[in-house]
Amino acid sequence: MFVTHSFCIPDVENLYTELRMMQRETASVWNDIVREATSYYYFSRKKWLSKTEIQSVRKQTYQLHSQTVQAIADKYDANRETIRQLRKTDKKAKYPWRRKYYYCIPLKKASMDITEDTITIKKASYGFSLSELLTKKKKRNWNEKFPKTNSAVSFPNLSEEPLDACNYAEIVWRNGAYWFCYTVQVPERDLSSLDKKVAGADLGEIHAVTAATEDKALLVSGRAMRSISQFRVKVLADLNKKMSRCKKGSRQWKRYKQAKHRIRQTSKNQLEELEHKTTKEVVSFLVEEQVTHFVIGNVSGIEKLTKKNEKKKQKTNKVRRQQLSLWNQGKIKQKLTYKAMLMGIEVEETEESYTSQDCPFCKGRHQAKGRHFICSVHKTEIHRDVNGAQNIVRKKHQMAVKPLDSVVFKQPVWYKRFLSEETRQKNKHPNDQPRKEQSIASRMA
Ligand SMILES: [Zn+2]
Repeated sequence: MFVTHSFCIPDVENLYTELRMMQRETASVWNDIVREATSYYYFSRKKWLSKTEIQSVRKQTYQLHSQTVQAIADKYDANRETIRQLRKTDKKAKYPWRRKYYYCIPLKKASMDITEDTITIKKASYGFSLSELLTKKKKRNWNEKFPKTNSAVSFPNLSEEPLDACNYAEIVWRNGAYWFCYTVQVPERDLSSLDKKVAGADLGEIHAVTAATEDKALLVSGRAMRSISQFRVKVLADLNKKMSRCKKGSRQWKRYKQAKHRIRQTSKNQLEELEHKTTKEVVSFLVEEQVTHFVIGNVSGIEKLTKKNEKKKQKTNKVRRQQLSLWNQGKIKQKLTYKAMLMGIEVEETEESYTSQDCPFCKGRHQAKGRHFICSVHKTEIHRDVNGAQNIVRKKHQMAVKPLDSVVFKQPVWYKRFLSEETRQKNKHPNDQPRKEQSIASRMA
């Protein structure tokens, strides 16, 4: 299985300016491809430029390695293909058209030189140097191609995994620093020796994830996440109100806009951290319980349903709609899926209708009241979300009804608050202090 890792590139000796130049160059490649593919071909000849044609478009004129130019063409082709598929159902999807000023730097294996200490990105530059131009001027042949000179940019290799098998990498700008993102293949855990054991997960708002096996359950709280997203909505609404009172483009207006950007950025980072922590907690529970099959409830379409109800009756009020729009279950599900798959666990999805109402004791259907599900016939009690998670499993596999051994409630620990001063220094923002400062200095020397 392929996973993407990244590390932050330290800002040393004009490296960032060099990378920014490359980014502008890749953006110009992208813009040329988009322009040529749309205006030249699609509008005038009513047909698409093929991938090989794209790649031959002025391949030897950019100050980049030819493989990088080709990778951008590949990216454009892939992008176009996904939009083509999307447009079959959604006519609003647009083919790439926007002019870009910066673009990521895609790198193939041939355009990188990776050693243990440094990563070198090859690039080409076309053109004469000043002295050559002056001496050659008189007998210059205009049909002559510009001579190619090879140059390179290098930075320290800070990756924690060996990069020998790395075939594709990208340099992207994220949160005020350049990051080197690379894909590596990770061996999967072999579970063939284990007996089949199933677990299910129910995603919710108060309990972000509820994972349950036959006799054990883990509930991870989602209250921290909810509070962050509610806070974000509140602050953004407030700022919007203030912005509407200002003149558009004024100094105060710009300040509010910056504040909005900052709030979005921080809350996004905080949420992402909590999502990772929540899913990690769940996956370690699955590994500890030696689960081999994992079923996740699929809630997609719930928002559409509420819209339909809205027309019929006013069933969903403002509060409920906000709850649904803030609920980040898609991200949690995606993280949960890949993390479980990394551990070799087989992941399945199923739709989760009536899973919270089906009664495991009498096979009937009752409404759950409060946090507990109580069977109205046998008067037996079970936690509402645990029952939901087990019922999700029952849609795909057999699962017996047993009294629960243990139900564990957990908080995704927001560890920034409890970090020691030493580790906080280490994890500081890269712009404040480059990471692994010591080792970089010794490597560059
Ligand atoms: Zn019942």
